[in-house]
Amino acid sequence: MKKIGVLTSGGDAPGMNAAIRAVVKTAIANGIQPIGFIKGYNGILEKNYHVMDRESVSGIIHSGGTILKTARCMEFYEAAYREKAFQNAKEIGLDGLVVIGGDGSYRGAGYLSELGLPCIGVPGTIDNDIASTEYTIGYDTAMNTVVECVDKLNDTCQSHERCSVVEVMGRHAGHIALNTGIATGAVQIITEEIPTPIDEVVENIKKIRESGKDHFIVIVSEGYGNPVEIATQIQEKTGIDSRATILGHVQRGGNPTLKDRVNATRMGYYAVKLLEEGKTNRVVALQQGNLVDYDIQEALKMKKPLDMDLYNMMMEISF
Ligand code: ADP
Repeated sequence: MKKIGVLTSGGDAPGMNAAIRAVVKTAIANGIQPIGFIKGYNGILEKNYHVMDRESVSGIIHSGGTILKTARCMEFYEAAYREKAFQNAKEIGLDGLVVIGGDGSYRGAGYLSELGLPCIGVPGTIDNDIASTEYTIGYDTAMNTVVECVDKLNDTCQSHERCSVVEVMGRHAGHIALNTGIATGAVQIITEEIPTPIDEVVENIKKIRESGKDHFIVIVSEGYGNPVEIATQIQEKTGIDSRATILGHVQRGGNPTLKDRVNATRMGYYAVKLLEEGKTNRVVALQQGNLVDYDIQEALKMKKPLDMDLYNMMMEISF
């Protein structure tokens, strides 16, 4: 194994830099030349890459975003372009590729593996919506950002006896909503898995108010209700002054937490070791604290439901 590539694909996530750094340093430590493709799969299609060395990953472990940039690459949905990418990789002399991204990026890596380029996927997304792994790079940082923001909203909610409806990321996966809901003492979460109707939210808030609580946090996953509308309805039906806040892309940024840095480093290191062992078409995953790897197609079929025990616990004590 002489030369491997690394790229970040799909949405960015804090900790991607730590993963890139680990891939680059592990490669160098094992006598392999690392190269970094720019803007996801576009970098392979356009042969847009940097030869990476120790210096190129110096001082990045603590920074959010990705030094390799990330993007969606629509051409990759077409076989002809994937074939071109494979030919480019051959011309560059690649012996393997580490793809840091989500399930979509894994699909691209699966196709490249089929064509003959050994690929390993590393889970990078703030939503924790990759079923094959308990943990994705960026999830912890994003949740800490949400908690910091909601804590501030909670302060002012307390002063004014208000309700704050906060939209968080995680379109099809409510992991961010559930865990930040618990961590901020929210009275309700609304997600794809738990699409609580507005009347139920209102009844719940009324009941909780009777117990003496005078300020309320409701967390809504992006796409599962318009937070402004929900706040308006709560205000109209309960008389509680209610405001909506959309946290948006602030959740994607920031310095990665210790947990994200450590997991990103472990996963990047593990990915290069898999390539060195001659593995291909695998994804790195964290299961019960241990790193494991799965076949890409198997990984893509897995399901990761929301932890309903956690949800039930949250609701039982949300008064
Ligand atoms: P994520 O990797 O975070 O799930 P996307 O679903 O946007 O994000 O995928 C990122 C990129 O991976 C896409 O822009 C495309 O280049 C590639 N990709 C996604 N799905 C496929 C697919 N079915 N076939 C080939 N490439 C894909």
